[in-house]
Amino acid sequence: MPIRDWFNKKKIRSPKQPTSKRTVPVGIWSKCADCNKIIYQKELFDNHFVCPECGHHYRLSAWQRIKLLTDPETFRETESGLSAKDPLKFKAGKTYAASLARAKKKSRLKEAVITGRGKINGVTVGLAVMDFNFIGGSMGSAVGEKIVRLIELSIAEKLPLIIVTSSGGARMQEGVFSLMQMAKTSAAIGRYQRFGLPYISILTNPTMGGVTASFASLADIIIAEPQALIGFAGPRIIEQTIKKKIPEGFQSSESMLKNGQIDMVVERGRLKSTVSTLLAMLTLGEAANA
Ligand SMILES: [Zn+2]
Repeated sequence: MPIRDWFNKKKIRSPKQPTSKRTVPVGIWSKCADCNKIIYQKELFDNHFVCPECGHHYRLSAWQRIKLLTDPETFRETESGLSAKDPLKFKAGKTYAASLARAKKKSRLKEAVITGRGKINGVTVGLAVMDFNFIGGSMGSAVGEKIVRLIELSIAEKLPLIIVTSSGGARMQEGVFSLMQMAKTSAAIGRYQRFGLPYISILTNPTMGGVTASFASLADIIIAEPQALIGFAGPRIIEQTIKKKIPEGFQSSESMLKNGQIDMVVERGRLKSTVSTLLAMLTLGEAANA
């Protein structure tokens, strides 16, 4: 390989460039996908799937995330039976029906979001967590409906609302039905906020497209995990459109914080305690409804 190509390759794989393709390595010992150091799997598990060497945050499933954020045995799922239909009988190479069947088998979920009630340090919250393993965490009509029903439940029960996002954006296999979820979820958040209830959004790697452009960005406090990719269009599409190279770290959590688009970058290990402190501040103790 010519030495110039080697440098180019190194540049593409720079740890500062967030990527959505990194998953937790398997085996007793593994090589970190970011810093290349050898890590002991148990240490990775104990550290909430954050590399103990470089701090790289591996992707969590929705259930792992719920376990991380809520008090043990307190989460109760709602609307667990809701899942996508295929109104357009969509086909692009493979059918949408086949993609749905594959996603259900791979993720063991019925949809790309889990919603429910749970306690965070004793405070009951309405919690929605997206799962990237289900068709890239994309938002179709069932995802939008589950989120709206959680918001309505949180209004009825006066619960703080926490939504954790991990999504490539709208689910294009549902065409306009997926796009209208942006307006539907945004309107529901608007209704929720008129009651003066606190909404905290937690953006994880990646949060893109119609999810960023709707409920994810409408929270009272927007938190992101370190080095998450956050934006509307992906970096490659932007580069192809503007025909320019975009800067290193563009659309990372850190760059979003610097430009005032989010409020905090919080490491995974401090996420629960941070949310708990924020809830206490936002509700001035009223949220202690346990
Ligand atoms: Zn590492």
